[in-house]
Amino acid sequence: MAEKRDYYEVLGVSKTATDDELKKAYRRLAKKYHPDANPDNKEEAEQKFKEVNEAYETLSDKQKRKLYDTYGFDGPNMGGANGGGYYSYGSGFDGFSGFSDFSDLGDIFSSFFGGERRGGSSRSRNTVTKGADLKVGIDITFKESYTGIEKEISINRNEVCPDCNGNGCAKGTSPTKCTACGGKGTIRQVSSTLFGQVATQRTCSACGGLGTIISNPCPTCRGKGTVKKTKRLKIKIPEGIDDGQTIVLKNEGEPGKNGGPNGDLYIVVRVKKDSVYSRRAEHVLCEVPITFTMATLGGEIEIPMVDGTKEKYVIPEGTATNTKFSIKNKGFKSISGNWRGDFVFTVVVQVPKRLTAEQRNLLVELAKTMNEQPPLKKRGIFG
Ligand SMILES: [Zn+2]
Ligand SMILES: [Zn+2]
Repeated sequence: MAEKRDYYEVLGVSKTATDDELKKAYRRLAKKYHPDANPDNKEEAEQKFKEVNEAYETLSDKQKRKLYDTYGFDGPNMGGANGGGYYSYGSGFDGFSGFSDFSDLGDIFSSFFGGERRGGSSRSRNTVTKGADLKVGIDITFKESYTGIEKEISINRNEVCPDCNGNGCAKGTSPTKCTACGGKGTIRQVSSTLFGQVATQRTCSACGGLGTIISNPCPTCRGKGTVKKTKRLKIKIPEGIDDGQTIVLKNEGEPGKNGGPNGDLYIVVRVKKDSVYSRRAEHVLCEVPITFTMATLGGEIEIPMVDGTKEKYVIPEGTATNTKFSIKNKGFKSISGNWRGDFVFTVVVQVPKRLTAEQRNLLVELAKTMNEQPPLKKRGIFG
């Protein structure tokens, strides 16, 4: 974007220009650059037109002009300049409220702003709109998140009224044309403004913009066209889903308006914590207690997987407590790809608190063979 030009330069006036000089310059330039007067280079003209408007809007306001003279472009936007009343092109008619005596520009402005602006911006009730999205939560167990599951949920949503098919009329009747707006849904108003005749359009208040009036409303929906219904839906929760992930069911939200598509249904999955297993990315984590003899001698153990099956694993001789092992591909299935995480378990060596006399004697005999105290690990002291 080109650098902003000085406002005085834009209007072609001196820094000491009087209000009258500003007004004259503005009037001349607004006509010159009006896009409708420049069909061959509309875009450039529009840019210039905006520039001129902005410059005049600032310089014609004493306070803003002072701020601009002192601080430059940022000045009029500062706190002191009456609460952000900075006209920007396309923001509506309000930006012109401070102007006066431009009646000769009347035609230009009414055509430039199309006369239809108001009607266009206030969304008519006839507009085809997508229905609202709905969001619900669902709780599943850790195991269910591992295996995937089909669940039924019930949601409360509006549906097209079955008795009137959505048109809101009692049986055997139909909507009649709104007499206030002649069925158009909008009312055109021509008002005299500072710029002359400006046509605006507003939504018809008699029919709310529909263009039709329902004199005999459908008793089921009271003319709304929709009824609240509790709907039960079966949803497939995929294998491997994680806590907080969302399933989207297209078209299962609120009904659209005037033939628009339904909204979507967002189902946020909450996975309950498990007392045995936890999850990190696609891996299943758990602690597996083993006896100290198993840790010392090694041996085969059976580990229950999340899905209830069992996996054999050979613990090697001399395994210290907190050693981690993993069983490949026994973790969660990835939602996005055809692969699985691992089952990662940490062995926790159990030291017996009570021994029988026989066990105790055996250990005493063992201890005699190992009576040397192991050296302290250096890291243990200094690390
Ligand atoms: Zn109407
Ligand atoms: Zn109805």
